[in-house]
Amino acid sequence: MTNNIEELSGGRIINTSLLSNQQISQLKKRGAQVVPASQTKAGKTVCRRCLSEIKTDLFVDQKVYCRNCLNFGKLLTDDKLVITASDLTFPIQTDPMSWTGELTNLQQKVSLELLTAYANKSDHLIWAVTGAGKTEIIFPLIKEVIQAGKRIAICSPRIDVCLELYPRIQVAFSRTSIGLFHGKTDQQYFPCQIMVATVHQLVRFESAFDVLVIDEVDSFPLAGDEMLERAIAKANKKSGSIAYLSATPPVELLHRVNRGEISISKLHRRFHGHPLPEPHCHLLFKASDFWKINPRLKHRISNIVKNHQRAMIFFPRISALLKFEQKLKRAFPKVSIVSVSSKDIQRIEKVQQFRDEQASVILTTTILERGVTFHKITVIVIDADAREFSKTALIQIAGRAGRAKDHPNDEVHFYYQYYTRSVQQACREIKEINRQAFTK
Ligand SMILES: [Zn+2]
Repeated sequence: MTNNIEELSGGRIINTSLLSNQQISQLKKRGAQVVPASQTKAGKTVCRRCLSEIKTDLFVDQKVYCRNCLNFGKLLTDDKLVITASDLTFPIQTDPMSWTGELTNLQQKVSLELLTAYANKSDHLIWAVTGAGKTEIIFPLIKEVIQAGKRIAICSPRIDVCLELYPRIQVAFSRTSIGLFHGKTDQQYFPCQIMVATVHQLVRFESAFDVLVIDEVDSFPLAGDEMLERAIAKANKKSGSIAYLSATPPVELLHRVNRGEISISKLHRRFHGHPLPEPHCHLLFKASDFWKINPRLKHRISNIVKNHQRAMIFFPRISALLKFEQKLKRAFPKVSIVSVSSKDIQRIEKVQQFRDEQASVILTTTILERGVTFHKITVIVIDADAREFSKTALIQIAGRAGRAKDHPNDEVHFYYQYYTRSVQQACREIKEINRQAFTK
């Protein structure tokens, strides 16, 4: 733990056992409060850090701790927590934005709707297709928050999305303190004005932010995770507001829109004005690994290779991906192929390698279904009928194609043996979005 008391400020929740008595009294002088790590409400023991119920009867002969937020350090029910003061002072900036790009008319319209929601202290959902330029749409909001000397956190459930967001935010707001925090970095916390972080990190905060932006709100592991949903509500100030961004919003959020609890903006057109690439569907009569690589599939890949194109190939499971990788390397020994999955410790480096065009084919699981942008790529989904590929996953995957202004017509190919509901619905929804975007 740092010796610099300043670095602990900003609505942080810290176990007192990690601090010296002197630090605790210094923090208290700066407005921190010391609270019990657990509370008993209606016969239930609730963790103060993650607000989950602690099942005390599961512990025999050992001290009771919260298993739900164990990732952030063991917290015993009889521990004490320091919650540091959330009021921070940031340098005054009249013109904090260093981004020189321009929003399209449609982006601007959505951006203004978002600012109106913020002014009304209402939560807002932006339903924007993949490649709509969601990140740029929130820039005017970030600008306004900074000008007011307030604090914003931009969070996603996925590390990969945070890694992609962070440098873009840095370029756009180069004079503002920005931190990137997630479970796989050693970066020490500091009270920055813009925090880019995984949603998980919000567990460590209470009433800390004036605005929260939750990007890719429908993605795993946030979807359906009550602890993370509570963390979002807890980390935000009572006076704060939340902006949700998604290309495939969850039904629960759309229900809240229907009930009038949150406002919504829809953006069905990509920033470059071209439609979403509609997937080509290929029914395979034999499995994808028939004759090592199903000849129809092999033909497609060999065409890509011959034309010096690049491809992202998606697999439902890591085991299938690794087997296919070996066969593919044998079939195309001259082609540079990399593979990534959630279990791959070199994942970040390998994605960078593909981004830098040092590899022409990247094999991946749904880990790269969203949040990543590569230029000029063909997208192939193998075993698109597997249960791992939900409608949402397929729409997101198809959305990796055609993102570049100079290459909006990248191809998307779904290969499967059974035409599942997910495949059917994904194709139908992409078509429908294009129809809505271009018939107005
Ligand atoms: Zn907990």
